[in-house]
Amino acid sequence: MSLPAKPLENARPGLDEALAHDLERIDDLGLRRVLRRIDSVQDSEVDIEGRRFLLFCSNNYLGLASHPEVIEAAVAATRDYGTSAVSSRLISGHMHPHQRLERTIAEWKGCENALVFSTGYQANIGTIGALTGAGDVVISDELNHASIIDGCRLSRAAVDIYRHNDTDHLAELLAKHAGAGRVLVVTESVFSMDGDKAPLQDIAGLTRNHGAWLMVDEAHAAGVFGPGGAGLVAELGIEDKVDVRIGTLGKALASFGAYAAGSRTLIDTLVNRARSFIFTTGLPPAAAAAAGASIGIIRREPERARSLLTRSRALGLRLRAAGLEVSHVDSQILPVVIGKADDAVAVARKLLDRGIYVAAIRPPTVPEGTSRLRVSLMATHTEEQIDTLAEGLTAAAHGGSGRSQREDTADKQR
Ligand SMILES: *Cc1c(COP(=O)(O)O)cnc(C)c1O
Repeated sequence: MSLPAKPLENARPGLDEALAHDLERIDDLGLRRVLRRIDSVQDSEVDIEGRRFLLFCSNNYLGLASHPEVIEAAVAATRDYGTSAVSSRLISGHMHPHQRLERTIAEWKGCENALVFSTGYQANIGTIGALTGAGDVVISDELNHASIIDGCRLSRAAVDIYRHNDTDHLAELLAKHAGAGRVLVVTESVFSMDGDKAPLQDIAGLTRNHGAWLMVDEAHAAGVFGPGGAGLVAELGIEDKVDVRIGTLGKALASFGAYAAGSRTLIDTLVNRARSFIFTTGLPPAAAAAAGASIGIIRREPERARSLLTRSRALGLRLRAAGLEVSHVDSQILPVVIGKADDAVAVARKLLDRGIYVAAIRPPTVPEGTSRLRVSLMATHTEEQIDTLAEGLTAAAHGGSGRSQREDTADKQR
């Protein structure tokens, strides 16, 4: 068969042409994202493309990414076990550092067993998919992380969303699905973009009363909340009412990877059914060893997390007093809500001019009209650095109109 002599008149645009058009639309909405290159260790100060900046948007909450003990654990594991697991854990990729880390996590969390995944994203999609399927229901908080949303979609279970932290709405949905197959309730414990805490005691009670299962993602609570940093579930003492606890190794634990923790049966099920565990390469030995070292430091030095939370609350209240809209001051995450995506980007740009890096968070990461600067504190920030941020942020957010940002927000809502 010969090719047509000339292109069809309604030929589709080429890939670059079509995608350039899509990108223009993203640009027009003020939602274009670009990568910013960090040229140094990630601590309270970093080099970005040749300039030194104060960093206030890292998840290195406890400053452990540059801790000598953590680095040494990674180096030693690389020397002893090589650079990579080079296989799925179920083939030849299950190595001693993985097993040691899983025992450490199980003991830390006070549960029977744990399973390490290669990322938190994979832990969530794999676990939700392993526990539910067609005929089942997942009930999920509306502000849950994208990896939970994608896990719900991939699971083939029906998905029902409850209003953020609204336990009445959750109760309604649990009653509505009383006749369904398995029902899994999923929430974060400390929410990633708002820094507020879920009412876990109520959620756990309701879930139990309805015979449903509860999965809690402790991505931002692990290492920071609870005895020895074991998380919010441990702080509240409701371990027996939470079936699955997820956490990442990539935030306060200053490594890479993630885990699910719970009963022996749960973990055996995940090993057999979690596709994102089965069909991917195991965690590098260095990452497993580094996370184990971080857990050791966190348990030994609880004052790191304690001082982080005290100082974060103080900063949040100070920003509020300066007229900024800080919707929650309950954790190391302080959402400074600006409103429109363009405005949030403008404030972030003014901060960069002052040598302060805080990324603007825009839709689809957060709901329309709630674009924000998500300030995250590190245990290693000095008081002087925090002062510089508070002054810079206040000036940048108020700049231009000369009115308080709260007044502007109130205007927009009228
Ligand atoms: C960051 C995050 C994840 C993903 O963890 P990674 O290890 O970075 O893939 C999952 N859940 C929540 C709530 C998170 O904030």
